[in-house]
Formats: sequence, C-alpha cells, structure tokens
Amino acid sequence: MQASPTPCRSLVTGGSGFLGSHLCERLLARGDEVLCVDNFFTGRKSNVAHLLDHPRFELMRHDITFPLYVEVDRIYNLACPASPVHYQHDPVQTTKTSVHGAINMLGLAKRLRARILQASTSEVYGDPEQHPQQESYWGRVNPIGIRSCYDEGKRCAETLFFDYHRQHRLDIRVARIFNTYGPRMHPKDGRVVSNFIVQALRGEAITVYGKGTQTRSFCYVSDLIEGLQGLMEAQPDCTGPVNLGNPGEFTIIELAEHVIRLTGSRSKIIFSPLPSDDPAQRQPDIQLARATLGWEPRVQLQEGLKKTIAYFDIALSSAN
Ligand code: NAD
Ligand code: UDP
Repeated sequence: MQASPTPCRSLVTGGSGFLGSHLCERLLARGDEVLCVDNFFTGRKSNVAHLLDHPRFELMRHDITFPLYVEVDRIYNLACPASPVHYQHDPVQTTKTSVHGAINMLGLAKRLRARILQASTSEVYGDPEQHPQQESYWGRVNPIGIRSCYDEGKRCAETLFFDYHRQHRLDIRVARIFNTYGPRMHPKDGRVVSNFIVQALRGEAITVYGKGTQTRSFCYVSDLIEGLQGLMEAQPDCTGPVNLGNPGEFTIIELAEHVIRLTGSRSKIIFSPLPSDDPAQRQPDIQLARATLGWEPRVQLQEGLKKTIAYFDIALSSAN
C-alpha cells in the first residue's frame, strides 16, 4: 500500500451506511476532517453514534439527488442502497440516487477541483460470460429487469465520471466493489451473509434462493476500506475502474454450510425461487489492484465470518 497521505477534508456520502461508517472511522483515524452525508434510507445514526462527539466529525442529513454546497478536498460517493431488497423497494429513487447523485457530486467536485471516488459495483458486469471478471470486460446487463435500476444506474454513474474526467479534467477514481460483508450490516439488510447469520443465530431456516449453486466472492469490510482509501490516494493517479474484492469464490450452499458450522446452529436449509437476473457466478480478477495499489485482501472467509457472527450475536441479543 501507498504511504499515509496528508490529512484532508473528506466528504463521505452514504456515510452512515455499512461501508460508509467504516470509511468515516478510517479517515478520522488518519487525521481527516470528515463530513458524513446521508438521507438514512438504509443507513442508521447508530452506525456513527460513536463518532458524533469527535471534533473532526460532522453528520448532515441530506439526499444527494439534490445539490450540496460544502467545501472539501476529497469526495467518496457511497450513497446508494446496495441490497437488492432495498434498491428494488423504490427503483426510480435508486436510479436517481446513482445518476442525479453522481451529477451533483461531480458538479461539487468540479467547482472545488476536488478528487472524487465512485463506489461502483461488480453489478456493472451483470450475469457475466467472462470469469473471473476483468475491468476490461463490458458486462452482460439486462436494461429492463428488476436489478436494472441499480446495475444501469451504476453504469451510467461510471459514464458520467469518465465524461467529467475527459471533458472537465476532473480527478476521478472508480472502484468496482464485489460483495462485501462485516459488522454494521443491518440485520434486515437482506443480503446473503447477514441473512444467513441472523437466521442461523435465531435458529430459523436458512433461505437459499435457487439451487444455491450460484457463486459469489466475499470480501471482509476492513480489506475493502483499505482498498478504497488506497485507490483515492494512489500515486501515480489511477482513475480505475479497479476491481476491489476477495477472489475466494464460494457457492451459496457452501456459504450456508460455513455459517451453520461456525454458529453451531441447528437451522435447516430451505430453498426458494431464484430471483430473476440473479448472476450465476462472480469472481473479481484483482491483478490491476495488486499492480497499481499494492492491495490485496487479507481476511479470508472463515475469519471474516467469525468476526461478523460475533457482531450479530451481540447486536441481536441487545435488541431482545
Ligand atoms: P448501505 O445500504 O449500508 O449504505 C448506503 C448508504 O447510502 C446508506 O446509509 C443510505 O441511507 C445512504 N443513501 C441512500 N440513498 C441516498 C441518497 N439519495 N442520499 C444520501 N444518502 C443516501 O450499503 P453499503 O453496503 O454500505 O454500500 C455503500 C456503497 O457501496 C453503495 O454505493 C453500494 O452500491 C456500493 N457497493 C457496496 C457493495 C457491498 O457489497 N457492500 C458492493 C458493491 C458496491
Ligand atoms: N441469496 C440467498 N438467500 C438469501 C439472500 C441472498 O440465497 O437470503 C442469494 C442471492 O440469490 C444471490 C446471492 O445470495 O445469488 C447473493 O445475494 P446478495 O443479495 O447478497 O447480493 P447480490 O450479489 O445478488 O447483489
């Protein structure tokens, strides 16, 4: 990884969400002033409650589909619901958040000549024919399906980032994040890792969609945050897109079995229909991140799951 950079005034949109809250913590730890902006759609104040008294931390309720006038040096644009359950709840708002939100944050970056990073996603590859996925792959995305509000919104945001870069010489960074998990996911987030852990800890049935033969590659949150910060500070400049994820690939059944074993749960696995357009396989090729950022994930699935289970164990028992 690169040497530790000079502290900045950093804006984190979506800062009270799962990834955003970890990023705010990390930026404060390196000495930044952090402005956390969130509309609390899926994020929670409790995720950043421990930061509220910090002299260099500020929390602002704001929806990024509206313009924002603040003064910062770095913008991390993370605002957007990431769980299929939540981004499909109000698909029009999801696309607006990705597209209008990107335009607003890019406009802010242009006025300030600030560096801006976009939290893009492996979903830009859709249901991929290339495996593992490299950044040069253009993807196979359904433009009119139930996942399209998110996938196409994120693709359009990438287009906007590169057009602002070419047209206005903006300093951009685009990270394509693969499935990331860890403490502070919402118990009702709806994504697979949190669903399975919560179900196992409660002794409820583990809900596998389809046959469970579809694969995902799971990255632990601390690794991902290190990658995001590394990309933002990369020297020489690196626009990306850069894949950030853990190449360890597992079927959803394997994930269920790991969770059952590590929780010691007696939960049974039940199968329900596979949602439409659910990608069959996903694994990041991270050669570019290795070469340009000197980054690679360190926390393997079993270790990350143990930490996440410990978090949910406490979170669920204190909620009872
Ligand atoms: P999350 O749902 O926990 O966080 C998203 C945050 O954005 C929430 O705090 C939410 O309230 C906020 N938000 C949503 N719409 C907003 C709006 N219009 N204005 C202001 N705030 C808004 O999800 P996450 O996992 O922390 O994801 C963060 C970012 O990373 C998202 O952009 C997501 O697309 C991207 N990403 C995450 C993953 C992952 O596996 N966690 C994978 C790929 C990409
Ligand atoms: N999934 C599942 N059971 C659940 C939640 C998700 O089997 O309770 C599956 C889902 O169909 C997908 C994979 O797990 O194949 C990952 O789903 P998630 O919503 O976490 O993220 P995605 O990568 O699909 O956006």
